[in-house]
Amino acid sequence: METVDTTLVDELNRRLAMYMPPANDYTPAEEALYTPPGVYTTTSEEAARYRLKAIREAFRHHYENNKFYHDFCRERNIGPDHIKDMQDLSRIPLLSHRFFKNYPQGKEFAVWLANIITGELPQITISQREPSFDQVIESYGRAGITVAYSSGTTGQFTFIPRDRRTYSNAEYAIARSAIEMLADWWQYDSHAYLLFPHPHKTNLYVGKVTSVLMDAAVKNVQVAIDREVTTDLIRISMGRPQGLKERVMSGVARLTADRRNQNMVDNIITWLEGLEKTDQKIGFFGAPFILNLAMEKMRQEGLSFDFGERGAVLTGGGWKVHESKRMPMEVFREKVEKYLGIPHHQCLDLYSMVESNGFMTQCPEGHYLHIPHNYFHPLVLDENNQPVAYGESGKFAFLDPLARSYPGFIFTGDQVKLLERCPVCQREGPVLAPEVTRMGGEEIRGCAEEMRRMLLSDLSEVSE
Ligand SMILES: [Zn+2]
Repeated sequence: METVDTTLVDELNRRLAMYMPPANDYTPAEEALYTPPGVYTTTSEEAARYRLKAIREAFRHHYENNKFYHDFCRERNIGPDHIKDMQDLSRIPLLSHRFFKNYPQGKEFAVWLANIITGELPQITISQREPSFDQVIESYGRAGITVAYSSGTTGQFTFIPRDRRTYSNAEYAIARSAIEMLADWWQYDSHAYLLFPHPHKTNLYVGKVTSVLMDAAVKNVQVAIDREVTTDLIRISMGRPQGLKERVMSGVARLTADRRNQNMVDNIITWLEGLEKTDQKIGFFGAPFILNLAMEKMRQEGLSFDFGERGAVLTGGGWKVHESKRMPMEVFREKVEKYLGIPHHQCLDLYSMVESNGFMTQCPEGHYLHIPHNYFHPLVLDENNQPVAYGESGKFAFLDPLARSYPGFIFTGDQVKLLERCPVCQREGPVLAPEVTRMGGEEIRGCAEEMRRMLLSDLSEVSE
């Protein structure tokens, strides 16, 4: 049985106190997140107890306080009283990930968001007559609702509204998941390089979700993309300019992209050079393709570093490095070892998506994606949306009780293989096989894809 270093967790909890609700006010999902000593080290039985209680309560909450989800369940003749034990969990009606992509424009978009939200809606004030997505998102932000989004290759967005509590719990959960798997590396005064947009300058999910790194988890954080990233910017980058002005903008942008990206890569290498001779710990967090760009430059210039155990890499957001090419993670880890000297067991991937507050994190021993099973319930479905057995491939779905402001009972377009436990390490609970792909017929979404395209057609300069 693996255990977790309690001094590590205690220190994290001190630093993340602002994200945590008061202990006497925990929902069952929060109890499942904050009470057990480890996110990944609980026994299967104990985790199942926490998880069942959390999901039953969350289902009742959305059933009773969300009109559209209530109607959706009524049509399927399923209510809270039908969900009693673990076997019943797969009866909970699941929303398609496409549901969160099916939004109207302008003021109607604000109404659409309001209808998704479970419970009382705060006062939202929108002054524009024809508000853009970004303006609606700002209005919600002022009322305490973080609307995060990601985008697929078709330029269609997925929008998810999180109230303060859901957002804070998600931030805590990602920090805790990452730190438990990188326990040997983590130290508060380490140096980190965020290979995503600045969390305070975007609502793009991959950027936003790492706020916690800036706020509390690590003291010295550099950011690769330190400028505003909006839905307009992402939409044009994904090849959907609207009107002549935007088409001109995207044309001009391509010209400046190369130089911008060269600067980004040079900054990363300069940062590495500055820290090489110290005894400080360094970590990269974010899109693998950006670190890959830096390593390609190092290869051309005959450069390499030897950070050893002082270094860590935690990737997320997808594995496309070129237009249609995925990089196998094994190849990436070998490259990281060769150019940075960082060992495989400190080069991990994290899998999540804008719709979920569960963070599947690779174990250092086997690189299987461990599910935070105290609260998060994974399902794998066949083409008729029926659950398949462990070991079979299918569509990933989940029951996420940390989602308080929207129903977190969702099936995705990702293809996964779920195993009952990790074939390599001692941690109990289910894991996903390391390589997650898209189901046939689904657009490519890896959250890093929109960033990759944004950097290729760098729009930031002309849109500022
Ligand atoms: Zn494992």
